[in-house]
Amino acid sequence: MTEKIRIGNVEVWALLDMIPPPYAPDDFFPTIPLEAWEMYRRDVLDEDGNLQLYYGCFAIRSQGKLIMADTGMGPGPHPERGNGRGDLINQIRREGLASDKVDYVVHTHLHADHVGWNVTAEGKATFPRARYLVPRADWEYFTQPQILETVPAMDRSVLPLKDLGVMDLVEGEHQITSEVSTIPTPGHTPGHLNVLISSQGQKGVVVGDLIQSVVQVMEPGWGSRADIDPRKAWETRIAMVERIEGEGMVMAAGHFNTGAHFGRIVRVDGRRYWQVESPQA
Ligand SMILES: [Zn+2]
Repeated sequence: MTEKIRIGNVEVWALLDMIPPPYAPDDFFPTIPLEAWEMYRRDVLDEDGNLQLYYGCFAIRSQGKLIMADTGMGPGPHPERGNGRGDLINQIRREGLASDKVDYVVHTHLHADHVGWNVTAEGKATFPRARYLVPRADWEYFTQPQILETVPAMDRSVLPLKDLGVMDLVEGEHQITSEVSTIPTPGHTPGHLNVLISSQGQKGVVVGDLIQSVVQVMEPGWGSRADIDPRKAWETRIAMVERIEGEGMVMAAGHFNTGAHFGRIVRVDGRRYWQVESPQA
């Protein structure tokens, strides 16, 4: 099923790379007691009461440029994720897109499930014509020797970008096209960024792991175990959820369910809800 929307003149595709094993909710959100999940059990958890994430990425076409926002978990198999295998390259083809037509790869951050398809098994750039845009503060954090040795994905999928000469470090607000730019959204990782889209008066945002589960639309104060700086992530998430709702942005969330990657944050009777955006061909 094609999951594609338009934001003004910009086209955005959701592309699923892999479905990892589900988590117990109090494992993934260790500070949230199980009782607090009760009211979200039906809408957020699966039939076994577990939290199912999806590893999705986005392709964005703006002003003739093709931009990948994140590159999934990679080909695998991934023993630390139930031996799952990534499917992104097939998904790209299925949508009539082509890896060698990608102009930019922009990383929301450098965790393993966002950089996996950067480099081929032969050590070449998977997107041979692309500049890879890497958040500077993430590069500086994850290349510290004591951090680097705990993150195998850096060795495999990020460090080669520098040697291949295809990497540009970005910081602050970085314009990719006149319709697509980055903004810093630190906390989940030090350099975490969101990708903003603005065209013909319409706005959208790729939130990366600022929001990993739909429950955080309703409860933006809830942070997962993956947030490196929980306090900062909390502040950033509260502010962005308010902005996304206030400006009526279309939000694109890679870890949300297939069929529900695009939506808007709406308020009914004082409570926030996730309103899925219908696909547009
Ligand atoms: Zn992630």
